Formats: sequence, structure tokens, C-alpha cells
Amino acid sequence: MVDVNLHTHTYRCGHASGEDREYVENAVKAGFREIGFSDHAPFRTKDGKEAGYRVQYLAVPEYFENLRALRDEFKDRITIHIGFEMEYYEEDFADMLSYVRSQGAEYLILGQHFLGNEHIYREGTAGPSDSVERLEKYLDLVLRALKTGFFSYVAHPDIIRFTGDEKAYETRIRAFIREVVKLGYPLEFNRLGYFEKRHYPRDLFWKIAAEEGATAVIGLDCHTPEVYLDTATVEEIEAHLTALGIRRVLPKIRRI
Ligand SMILES: [Zn+2]
Ligand SMILES: [Zn+2]
Repeated sequence: MVDVNLHTHTYRCGHASGEDREYVENAVKAGFREIGFSDHAPFRTKDGKEAGYRVQYLAVPEYFENLRALRDEFKDRITIHIGFEMEYYEEDFADMLSYVRSQGAEYLILGQHFLGNEHIYREGTAGPSDSVERLEKYLDLVLRALKTGFFSYVAHPDIIRFTGDEKAYETRIRAFIREVVKLGYPLEFNRLGYFEKRHYPRDLFWKIAAEEGATAVIGLDCHTPEVYLDTATVEEIEAHLTALGIRRVLPKIRRI
């Protein structure tokens, strides 16, 4: 049974909806014992612009305030963690980390939606490309992020949309997954991508994951409170992972 989920957004990122309270209430109703809020961490480019698909800096204190109040109110029914989903940008990472810590974030999950950085490189990893170099760059960045030890796990590891030769994909992904397993991290099977039939979770990725003995966590990636109530989809995913022969584990936070 899936009763832990560390991947929850809030309306503050601008593309999720509902009240924080509804997410918590629905999680309790569905039998979750531990959840984490991991809205998109704010980011400002060097020209001073804030990304619109993330929590705005000004909204961060209220994010923590409101969620802390819910955490206290619901403490006998559910454990609530407060963190962020964050990119790994090497040159900015020290600043990003000290900022989220200063605000009281307990944990981070890695969501690498961009490569390199957003100051100059705004092409998303979810966009189609047949460049092996880009695929390698993404995988390398994710591994370097995990090696910092500050991320609890990598969300939608298969978000990189490689449209080139399957053999080339397979070789790189296999080496990547081996490394992730060696580092002791699970891979996230993303419920949002599965439900919306996005290009991830990608079958070939998960076939290789099974062969390499990787473990999977299910990340709901909730952008609406109703997702917590949809236990049928989670059961479907569990059956799918079982059929693939992948061991499912529950996600654990690594405190930052
Ligand atoms: Zn989001
Ligand atoms: Zn997410």
C-alpha cells in the first residue's frame, strides 16, 4: 500500500489548484500516514526575473506558515513534511540551498526541468530532442545532484525526452540507473505523467530499471487535492511495477 507521498504542489506555483488544507484532508481520508509538500522552489535569473511556474519569493514565508499550522493541527492524524522540488544548477546551488534552508525547508526532491541553468538555457528537458549529448548532459547533471546528498530522490527521472536511436538511449540509461542504484537512491515512477499519458514514465526506462534491480517510489506529483483520493490509479501503478518485477519502496526524506 502507498501511504507515503513526498511529491505535492500547492496553488502558489501558479499551475496547481486547491487549498493546502484540502490536500491534507484528502490525504488523511485516503489513509496516508506521511506526506510532504514539495512545491517548485523559487528561482530568479540574473536579469532579476522570477519564473512564473514556481512559488514566488514573496509567497515563501506564507507557504511555510500555513503548512506549519496544518502540520500542528493534523499531527495526530498524519505526518507532514515541508520542502521543495528544486533544480540542480551547479553555479547557483550553494545559494539555492542556503536560501531554502533559511526558510525552514526540511527536504528537497530533484526535478530537473531544465539543463544547465535558467539564466541562459531555457529549453526544458521535457521537450523532444534526438541529441545524445543533451541526454548525457541531463543524466550527468542528475547524478551530480544526487551525489551532493541533499536530494531525497529524483522526481520523474525519465523526463528527458530523447527521440533518437533507442540503442543509444538504452546504453546511457542503463549506465545511469546502475549509478543511481549504487548511490542508494530509488527512482520515482511519476503518477502525473502516467495519468496524463505524457512521454514519461517511459516503458524502456522502466524495463531497464527492472533489469538493473532498481527500486521505485511512487510520486503522486499532486497539482490538485483530488489526486490523493484517486487510489485506483496508484493501485494500477503498483500492479504495473509488480508486473515489471520492480521492487517498490516508500520514499524517505533526507533532511537538509
Ligand atoms: Zn508543478
Ligand atoms: Zn512536481
